[in-house]
Amino acid sequence: MHLGNPTNTLAIINKYGFAFQKKFGQNFLIDSNVVEKIVRKADVTKEDFVLEIGPGIGTMTQILCENAREVAAVEIDKNLIPILRDTLSEYNNVTVINEDILKVDINALAREKNQGKPIKVVANLPYYITTPIIMGLFESHVPIDSITIMVQKEVADRMQVGPGTKDYGALSLAVQYYAQPEIILNVPASCFMPRPNVDSAVIKLTRHEKNPVEVQDEKLMFQIIRASFNQRRKTLANGLNNSSEIHLSKDVIEKAIIRLCGNPSIRGEALTLQQFADLSNIISDIMKNEK
Ligand code: SAM
Repeated sequence: MHLGNPTNTLAIINKYGFAFQKKFGQNFLIDSNVVEKIVRKADVTKEDFVLEIGPGIGTMTQILCENAREVAAVEIDKNLIPILRDTLSEYNNVTVINEDILKVDINALAREKNQGKPIKVVANLPYYITTPIIMGLFESHVPIDSITIMVQKEVADRMQVGPGTKDYGALSLAVQYYAQPEIILNVPASCFMPRPNVDSAVIKLTRHEKNPVEVQDEKLMFQIIRASFNQRRKTLANGLNNSSEIHLSKDVIEKAIIRLCGNPSIRGEALTLQQFADLSNIISDIMKNEK
């Protein structure tokens, strides 16, 4: 029995007397068209191992099991585990892991289940952990093919935009450094039970085979990016000067910015990813020469 409709979802909720927990961001999908489109757009095939984060009652997990070779579904809420045992009982290619995804060693999981080859991640997540999960997956160098993820509409927009727009920020740059973002579906609040207060979108992040810019020191580039957007209204030079993460003299900062673009009062929000990479490489060079 597929769950992707209000009647079947309610039947399961009532059968187990399940109480939705706000702290886990529990809004379950009740629209089978949306579920099927996500799985289709994620390009899940019988070759794939898929990691699903936050399966809920298993609505999308069922469709993933029907399309993938193997699925691992990580769910934090122990009250959902007996429900998942029931709703996924027809499938023998799924492992449910009762754990907080932020504590799971995903590298080890990819090694065990997919011989360390790139995995596909599919998730309809609580919005408050979207950014740490995405950044954690990329920064810990988990082998990733793609992440297809439901997020708040505004967050999806933020991931896609470039300089000159109000949504452009550290998340846009981080996502675009690691992956090609593409919004594949807008999902209205009416597709969930209970209904959330915001509209959602599904975004697919396809991992770049090769990073689009060359950076000598990735950590420094991301420190520079964070410092520039922490103080959006300030110039890039002031942002970098005031950062607690970066310890560079005013003189080095100004020299580097002038070498980058000739304009000492440019703001960070005007810089492209390539320019942030160039700036961090210039600063790395200046620091090497000063040693
Ligand atoms: N995928 C289901 C669906 O589409 O109907 C449920 C989506 S619901 C928005 C988010 C799910 O993530 C919930 O089942 C919640 O319990 C689970 N969750 C929340 N925080 C989590 C965490 N840190 N690790 C794993 N699962 C989590």
